Amino acid sequence: MTYESIIGLEIHVQLKTKSKMFCGSKNDPDEREPNINICEVCSGQPGVLPVINREAVHKALLVGLALDCQIAEYSKFDRKNYFYPDLPKGYQISQYDQPICGKGWVEIDSPPRAGARRGGEKTRRTIRINRAHLEEDAGKLIHEGNTTLVDLNRAGVPLLEIVTEPDFRDPAEAKTFLHNLRNTVRYLGVSDADMEKGHLRCDANISLRNPGETELPGYKVEIKNLNSFKAVEAGLNYEIARQTELLAVGEKLINETRGWDDVQSMTVAQRSKEEAHDYRYFPEPDLPIMHFVREEIEKLRAELPELPAQKLERFQTEYGLPEKDAEVLVNERSLAEYFEEVMSELEEWLSSSPSPGVGRVGERSDESIHKLAKQAVNWITGDFQALLKVAGTDARDAKITPENLAELIKMIHKGEVSGAAGKKILTIMFERGGDPSNIARDEGLGQVSDEEAIVVAVDKVIAENPKVVADFLSGKKPALGFLVGKVMAEMKGQANPQMVNSVLSKKLG
Ligand SMILES: [Zn+2]
Repeated sequence: MTYESIIGLEIHVQLKTKSKMFCGSKNDPDEREPNINICEVCSGQPGVLPVINREAVHKALLVGLALDCQIAEYSKFDRKNYFYPDLPKGYQISQYDQPICGKGWVEIDSPPRAGARRGGEKTRRTIRINRAHLEEDAGKLIHEGNTTLVDLNRAGVPLLEIVTEPDFRDPAEAKTFLHNLRNTVRYLGVSDADMEKGHLRCDANISLRNPGETELPGYKVEIKNLNSFKAVEAGLNYEIARQTELLAVGEKLINETRGWDDVQSMTVAQRSKEEAHDYRYFPEPDLPIMHFVREEIEKLRAELPELPAQKLERFQTEYGLPEKDAEVLVNERSLAEYFEEVMSELEEWLSSSPSPGVGRVGERSDESIHKLAKQAVNWITGDFQALLKVAGTDARDAKITPENLAELIKMIHKGEVSGAAGKKILTIMFERGGDPSNIARDEGLGQVSDEEAIVVAVDKVIAENPKVVADFLSGKKPALGFLVGKVMAEMKGQANPQMVNSVLSKKLG
């Protein structure tokens, strides 16, 4: 029996702000020294007053707008009461019934279902957002032998909790959504969203129902601790198998919370899930209600940068890039920006200079742009990205400027250097920067595309090899290769081989 899975996600995004959510302590997730970035507010001392961090509110609004959420006109904070050693106040300041961002939606391209035939079509799906609210993070417990230590550096760091409706039908869809969300918050500059570092934490809830049913199942299993994209998919798939087995033998499933164990690749029962009333939510009396003015929200919406999903579409239509290539670029904002800078150089060149084989002077046809774009993406996602990975740097900090890479692509396009020489030049540029034409000259990597020089060499080779020429003319095609080799030797290996071939064929034709 195959059931239909009903999946929803709850994602905590750690916002990148200068200070914490309700105090002036530094928000530095990389701080190693414990209890350095704390004050009386975030360490829960009596008699202190929290203050709302404007930057965190601004960043929450950006995410809300990117997810097409309704922004609340009035929004308030509430106390969520529970006891835990990493929460010195005994309550977390969160938002209960008036979250900053209300209902929204995003579209995702759902990958072909598992088990579908290869080449299965992607389908576009709408995922509804239930809400997104602001809250503060808790501290960290460090267990050492029989002792447990408390580090409050993280206590009070702003979190945006994003809750989706149970609209995913497949673990791969949930993973795609999370991936898109990570790219979106990175593009918005609101979070580094590194899952390994806990900037982005994901819980999922999943239940199963019979195919064709429309009611939501009467239970929900929440999976905690899904700390990588792989874990999200694996954890959900594990639950589908586990729940299917139980339902098959007629067992009734109940609400529960389970933790994903990465080592054993399984979920483990934790505790029955708390209901909202267990937290005794009530309005935070020490903070004012926030009021958002419509006009200002619309102004903010107008200022949103191009989001990854839009960029992905534009790269395919404007530059004719295959989806896979566009995806590799868009996944890393710095790479996408680098590509666009290279393209703007190439487009300028295209519209201002004669370029054999690309287009006529001043011509800026789609075809020629697409051709150059494909070359650019091949260099950027191929050799360039490989060099970046080895060096552990970012495209922004590379010694190769987009202008110089564009220059190299032009040189290859014009036949001034071969593709193989291009790779050598790229490596040299990566190590020490510099202009590719100077490097080609200094390293003797240039390629002669001067037709006159090639004609002279061809004539000489033809005159010196009458027998081979006669062989070729009597039908021995391989003789041409021999002659090409002779011309290349004559030109010390620096002639453009395509041109040598065509000049020779013309002369002997
Ligand atoms: Zn503080």
